[in-house]
This record gives sequence, structure tokens and C-alpha cells, in this order.
Amino acid sequence: MKIQFLCLACLACLAAVAFADAQHPFPVPAGARFNATTPNTYPDPNKGYGIIDYGSGIYIFTEGAYWGMAVASDRGRSRNNGNGYSNGRRNTRPTLLIIDAPTGFFTPQTYGNMLNELLDMSGASTVSDMLYSHQHTDHIGNAFVVKQNFPNVLIHAHSDTCKRLRQRNDPRRPVPCHCYSRGFTLSPFDIEATDLHAHVIGNLAIYHSPSKILMAIDIVFPGWIPFRDLAVAAYTPDFVAAHDTILEYDFDLLVSGHLCRLGHRQDVITQKEYIADLFQYATDAMANIPSTPFAQALGTFDPNSPNFQNYWALFDQWFDACDRNCSDRAIAKWGRLGAVDIWTYGHCAKIGESIRID
Ligand SMILES: [Zn+2]
Repeated sequence: MKIQFLCLACLACLAAVAFADAQHPFPVPAGARFNATTPNTYPDPNKGYGIIDYGSGIYIFTEGAYWGMAVASDRGRSRNNGNGYSNGRRNTRPTLLIIDAPTGFFTPQTYGNMLNELLDMSGASTVSDMLYSHQHTDHIGNAFVVKQNFPNVLIHAHSDTCKRLRQRNDPRRPVPCHCYSRGFTLSPFDIEATDLHAHVIGNLAIYHSPSKILMAIDIVFPGWIPFRDLAVAAYTPDFVAAHDTILEYDFDLLVSGHLCRLGHRQDVITQKEYIADLFQYATDAMANIPSTPFAQALGTFDPNSPNFQNYWALFDQWFDACDRNCSDRAIAKWGRLGAVDIWTYGHCAKIGESIRID
């Protein structure tokens, strides 16, 4: 039932995407400040996805809100040469590496259809390999579709990702057979995977040097502010540091996992500036907004008050005032980023907490 509803919502959304004004390619919540830039591609509303043939064997796919990637290579493991790669011997037909299997507005059916189209477009004989950018279901929850259709697929991930997936025992996210405790290469596909640990433990920066494409999921949101609470980053200082790590790569295109377009260096720099502003505003707010008036109004230190020693109430009111101050300043400055009014408050709250405890 839920899946059917999602599917209908998806089609309605995608239809709106296809025919809407380029300035407003997605439905805009009432009152929302929306200023994202034109998307790279519209998903086909009849298919439920779109594929960009980037050249050099690179394919980038989306259902409108999520992005993944595929790499075709004639040095991959074909059906006839066992479990190892082809050891320098060229296959007559390429094989595919799939990076991520998002759910989002994909259904297992549309994701499977997209895999078939990728095979047709690339001329590949099979999906020989799959790579998980990180453990989260919304980015790899259709991995079982790959495994069902290509039972011999080799799945690769960081060992921290493997560990969590073993614990979860989720049939949608098959446990990888190749787990790496630190950065690794998938040389037939010219892929270099490096520990990023910036969004969640085990998340990877995935680099394809021949095409200068970097895939780093759930860190930077080109044209938009991050998903809520700094994209649910596990540890705020690592999330912040990841911006510089990403900028150390020599990349022309950033596949960052979400929303209506791909990214470039300037998007990383812009988001870094936005986050730096939030740190400044949160610091200013805590310095300039005293907690004493809230304590007095609540009676936190008054034995006759019902809120005597109710420190949670005090912190809640004081933090809220600080987070609102931070958020109001950022919204006033950063109207050019999509949805700045939606989740800036949460980012301020998370950053305020990090300033206090990290
Ligand atoms: Zn994630």
C-alpha cells in the first residue's frame, strides 16, 4: 500500500518536474524560499528515472532526488573468467560497476528497468561489480535488485559499512563480499575509494580520475542547503572537515547524491562558506544572548517555582533563542540557496551543540 502510494506520488512529482518552469522544477512548499539552479537532467516521467551518458564509460542516473553512478569497463570480470578480474585481458563486451542503489522515488521495478537500460546503453554483458558509498538504506536499499538479477555480482564496501550491514541483516542491503578496512581501488574501473567518515562511519569518497568525477554522498548539496541536521552527520567536526577533503581532489564534476543537479567546485566552496557563517552566528548568539532572563522567568533557581532545577526547560528555551537568532541571520543572507528557510534552524541547533560539546 505504502509502496503504491509512493509510486503515485513519484509519478505526480516527476510529471510536475517534466513540465514545470525551469526555475521551479520541483513542487515548492507553500511559503518556501526556493532558489535552486536548473537541474542537469529531468527524469523521464514515464520511466521514473533519467540517465546521463557522461562519456568515457561513465553513466550517472537519477530518479529526480537521488543520484548514483555506473562505470563500464572491458577489463571487468566477465561471466567466463571466474571470480578474478580479467588480468589485463580485454573482454569482448564491457561489464558494469554500479555505485549505489537508491530508493527515494525509485521502486524496485523502475530501478531494475534502469539497470537494463544501462546494459543496453553501455553494451555491457552483465553487472559484475557493485560499490556501496555508505550503509544508509535510502542510498543502497535497492541493492537486492542488483543481486537478484546478477547473482554473481561482487559487492564492495568499507569494512565499517559491512559490519553495520551484518548487524542489521536487512534483505534489501546484501552484505558485501569484499570489505576493505581502508581506502582501496577497483582498478578495472579506474575507481579509487578513500575513507571519508564524514557523514557516517565507513562512507567513501569515490574518485574516477580519467574523467575527474568525484562521488561523495550526503556532504554537499549543490544549490541547496544540506538535508536536515547537517545531513544527519554522525560527528559535526568530521562533516565540516570533509569540505576541505573534497576540495583536495582534482575534480570537474561532483556526484553528491541528492536533488536536482550535479555539483562543481564552487558548490563545495559555497556550502563551506554557509557552514562557516552558521558557526559564527551560533557562536555570536551564545555570547550575546544571556541565559539569566530565561532562568528568572522560569524560576529555575527559585525553590517555590514548579520549574525549580528544571534545567532541561532552561536549556530548551535558551538554546531555542540562540538557534533562532543564528537561523534568522543565515536565512537573511543565504536566500540564494534552496530551502534555506526549511532546515537552517536545525543546522544552527546541531552546530550550537557541537560548539558546546565537541
Ligand atoms: Zn546517508
